[in-house]
Amino acid sequence: MSQKEIERLFSGLDTSVQLLQKELGVSYLEGLSETGENLLNNRKASQENGVPSVETIKTLNELYEELPLNDMEAEEIRKSFQLALLKGSKNDQIQANHQMTPDAIGFILAYLIEKLFDSDVKKIRLLDPAVGTGNLLSTVYNGLSLRNIEIEAEGIDNDDLLLSLALINTELQGQGVKLTHQDALTDLLMDPVDLIVSDLPVGFYPVDENAKRFKTSALEGHSYAHHLFIEQSMYYLKNNGYGAFLVPTQLFESTESAALTKTIQAEAYLQGMLHLPKELFKSEQSRKSILLVQKTGENAKQAKQVLLAQIPDFKNQTSMHYFMQEVENWKQENIKK
Ligand code: SAM
Repeated sequence: MSQKEIERLFSGLDTSVQLLQKELGVSYLEGLSETGENLLNNRKASQENGVPSVETIKTLNELYEELPLNDMEAEEIRKSFQLALLKGSKNDQIQANHQMTPDAIGFILAYLIEKLFDSDVKKIRLLDPAVGTGNLLSTVYNGLSLRNIEIEAEGIDNDDLLLSLALINTELQGQGVKLTHQDALTDLLMDPVDLIVSDLPVGFYPVDENAKRFKTSALEGHSYAHHLFIEQSMYYLKNNGYGAFLVPTQLFESTESAALTKTIQAEAYLQGMLHLPKELFKSEQSRKSILLVQKTGENAKQAKQVLLAQIPDFKNQTSMHYFMQEVENWKQENIKK
């Protein structure tokens, strides 16, 4: 992987965003969306009602021409775009629930997912129902592509700016992901998938009327969005398919969690709960874990031993190696072939 190219592309994106911000008075992420659309439009800056100026258009077009996009691998492009997204999140002070999934978490999720699918799997249908900027989805996509698995991916989000960034992100990487702007807790017009991976929005879902359709809805007041998302995902998984969700570590500690556990057990097997290293989070309250479920089916069974693990600090190579071995052994002993 060429760090130089990654930085060159990021620097080009960053300069173009700053130019657009100045002329259009938009936020960083809006500028990034604008510049991304220009790149997808044959690297031609667009002008509306005389803005940006002809001079800026010329500067932008020259800058776009020099971007090393054609010489870069998908994963390198994702990394450059991710640097721009990180800068945008900071500059625009994006709220926690809308923030991109950081690579440290994306890589560990991608690793676990790669472990779950056997080497003879050739094709996977993949969904992220809270796709945001597409960073997590495209990390998993790139990981699976390395194993020569053909991927058909879909993403959903109800935030149009984040969804437009996901479109640019995945198109620049040549991933061709189908993206839909929708409340993912309404009916989805899609065929079931083999894998759902998602960094779920945590907190209350505001549309009580719609929440009532779910078994995991609260008896009174707002329901937890992350509970509803997990239930909704169960309905769109193929038999034997997997769901890997980033959830609050205390997921099963709230009073509402009884209904969640019951719903998961009715539709699927709870196969694992892996706690991410505490170093990744600001407080105990904000800690996250990976919930691993498998939809029932003739090629699935409840793991004899649920994979309950503390993922070590990524910097500690020895512990990381030991952890990977533990996951491998668990898979051999607990996941039906
Ligand atoms: N994995 C994403 C990434 O790498 O950018 C980040 C996901 S972010 C933590 C959660 C996402 O859920 C946000 O993008 C938010 O807009 C989306 N979201 C929240 N409520 C939603 C709903 N009802 N339907 C669809 N998306 C929703």
